[in-house]
This record gives sequence, structure tokens and C-alpha cells, in this order.
Amino acid sequence: MYNPTIESMPLDKLRQLQSERLKTMLQRMVDNVPFYRHLLREKGIAPGDIKGVDDLAKLPFTKKSDLRDHYPYGLFANPMSEIRRIHASSGTTGKPTVVGYTENDLNIFDEVVARSLVCAGAKPGMKLHNAYGYGLFTGGLGMHGGATLLGMAVIPVSGGMTDRQLTILQDFEPEVMCCTPSYAQTLAEECRKRGIDPKELAVKFAILGAEPWTETIRSQVEAGLDVTATNIYGLSEIIGPGVSQEDFQEKGSGSYVWEDHFFPEVVDRDTGEPLPYGQEGVLVFTTISREAFPLLRYWTNDICSIYYDANAKRTHIKMSAIKGRADDMLIIRGVNLFYTQVEEIIDDMDFLVPNYQLIVTREGTMDAVEVSCEVGDGVNHEDDSLAQQLLQRIKNTIGLSMKISLQAPGAIPRSQGGKLQRVVDRRIMA
Ligand code: ADP
Repeated sequence: MYNPTIESMPLDKLRQLQSERLKTMLQRMVDNVPFYRHLLREKGIAPGDIKGVDDLAKLPFTKKSDLRDHYPYGLFANPMSEIRRIHASSGTTGKPTVVGYTENDLNIFDEVVARSLVCAGAKPGMKLHNAYGYGLFTGGLGMHGGATLLGMAVIPVSGGMTDRQLTILQDFEPEVMCCTPSYAQTLAEECRKRGIDPKELAVKFAILGAEPWTETIRSQVEAGLDVTATNIYGLSEIIGPGVSQEDFQEKGSGSYVWEDHFFPEVVDRDTGEPLPYGQEGVLVFTTISREAFPLLRYWTNDICSIYYDANAKRTHIKMSAIKGRADDMLIIRGVNLFYTQVEEIIDDMDFLVPNYQLIVTREGTMDAVEVSCEVGDGVNHEDDSLAQQLLQRIKNTIGLSMKISLQAPGAIPRSQGGKLQRVVDRRIMA
């Protein structure tokens, strides 16, 4: 563990710490952020009414639209003279979401990333091949700061330029690498194509995140790069990568949320009511220790569940893998569909590899989905019986008939370094 006192803190103590931090944050919000001052006044809530995290459900949510409405700096709680860094998330439409950090916020960022790195198998003295993008995106600089704090040597490769990535993996001998799962797929595939034996690479641990992925891709990346791959989750609004991380010895059981800084809730996507542990809904975070950019019950739109794991090394709560973003959920003939559900099915079909896309079209008044997926080496993609097997499997598991289009190896677009678009929407919007 990087910080055992915190990471294995008894739950009652953790609740106390969280409650104290929440109260301090609420007072700072009311004092320094006009948006929150007005919002709480409107709801008739004074900071003193909130005794601790158990009262959180009384407080309103913050949505991405609130961030956009206060673009760029309207929600900052510190004057610019105290801001040490500014990041922004890409934002699919219009203006990006801008976030700021004080020195203290950057220290927290480094600490949670250092904890995440240790959780993933990294140790001081190891080298980190950091293939997350550097720049406004939080991935590159976020991982960089945490690795430096831990005492690793950072190789700031950034995303893209696959030839150079492979040379560095071979010659610089990093023991740990981080990138998006889809880019790790690209790197694994390129190693195979070029006859690079992954066993001869020094890299042993891969930390993958920034987009949803499943066990299907984990198996492919672990075999293709000879690594242990774990999940890192985060979003710039909350801090960046390192909001949660999976332990390499507890793979598949969820990712620890560093809840001394980011208090999680899972709520019903329609009513906003908090859901019991283990139930799936929208993940909501309150940034109880952030200075420059404090957020109250921030609606991430990411779908998952949270739960305590009695067999875990640490006391912090875990979150399941993200199924997708609520706004990425497709509703096809009344059935809710996330692309990760199709990815899981691909894992069970041994003639397929997890390079795929879902193409959404409109046929008359109905939406339809085509699954375009690659077959493995040596498999005939024109064999209709294989397409029929996949069709049946999807029908039985998800309850939808989809058009299947099997493709030859290499036909589907690959990640060139960042997040990959798995869903292509070809509906003509009226
Ligand atoms: P954006 O993609 O909106 O420009 P960010 O780069 O901050 O902004 O991305 C944050 C989002 O990326 C999260 O809200 C989530 O949807 C997705 N994400 C990040 N890490 C993971 C992960 N490990 N698994 C699934 N989704 C992830």
C-alpha cells in the first residue's frame, strides 16, 4: 500500500474524516462560489444543516450543464493567483469543461495516482511508460505526477506514434505501462505482427482506463503483452485518473474508490434516489477535499455499482467496471444496450477477436444495430454459420436481433493512441 493509514482506515474513522471534510467544503462553497451559494439558498439549506455524509442525499446534484454554464472559471473557489494548473476535458459538443487545481489539489492528485500505481503492481525504482496523452487531457500529466511522487522514472511517451512506442517498450525496458485499453490492444497486435515476443519485454503491469472495457479485452491485452492489466478510472471534473483503481491481486473484484477524497454514491438514473450497495445506477461524486474546483454530488453519467468487499486488503469501497455512460446507452426497440454487453459476448465466441464496432442506423421509424466484428487469424469471415452463431447468442443474451457483419482480421479501425469510438451512429437526426 502507498498510504496504509488511510487505505486501511477503519470505516467509522473514515466516515468521520469524510464528514468533517464535507462540512468544510460546503462552507467554502457558500463563501467562495456564487453558484453554490445561490443553489443552497434556493433549496433552503445552510451548511450547518449538514452534519455529515449521511445527509448528502438532502443536497442537490451538480450536472455537466452547470459546468458549461459557468465556462470557463465561474465555479473556481480560489482566485487565479492561487491556481497552479488548468485542465479541460474534450467535451463532445461546444465548449470544453475547464477545471482548476491549487497546489494542494495537485498534491492530492499525485497522492491518489501514487496509491493507484502501487495498487496496480508498481514500485519505486520501476520505470513507467506513460502513453496517456499529455496536454489539456488529465491522463498524461496526472499519471506523471503520481509516478514521480512514488519514486518511479517516468518515460513521458504520450499517445500515438506506435513505432516509437514499441521501440521504447523494447529498449527503455519499462516495467509498468499505462494507456487506454483500446491502445493497449493496438500495441499488443503490433507486437505480434512484428514478431516481438512479449516475454522478452520488461513490462509486467499495464494500467488501463479512460474508456469502458471488459474482461474480453483484459485477456487479449494480458496475453498479447504478457502483463497483468488493471483498471484505472477517473474524470477531469473530479481530479483526473486515480479516482479509483483495481488491485492487481484482486483482479475482477472492482476498483477501490479513494473515498477519503472522492465520496461516491450510486443513484437511480431517472429519480436520482440513492441506491443500495451493489445496485447499478449513475455514479455521483462529491469532491470532499478539493479546493479550487469543489463539486457537490457531481452526476458523472457513468453506470456502475459500488460495494464493500469483505475479502479486500483495503477498507475503501469498490466500484464495478463502468458499463458505459448513461448518454451512450442505446435504446433499440425498447431494449437498453451498452456496447460492453456485446464485448462480453464476443469473449465467448472463440472465432472472434475483440476488435469490433456497433453501427446504429434507422430503418423507417426503428433503430437498428449492426455488429461489425473481426474474426481471428485463419478463420473465414464469409462463413455464414459463424455469423448465425453470433446472431443467436446476442438474441438469447440481450434479446435483440442484430445484423452481423464479420470482417477479416485488421478490417476494423484501431486506437491510434487515445479513446476509441466503438459506436458509430448513422441515424439521420430529424
Ligand atoms: P471526456 O472524455 O468527457 O473528455 P475525461 O477525459 O475526463 O473527459 O473522461 C472521463 C470519462 O472517461 C469518465 O466519465 C468515463 O466515462 C470514462 N472513463 C474513464 N476511466 C474509465 C474506466 N476505467 N472505465 C470506463 N470508463 C472510463
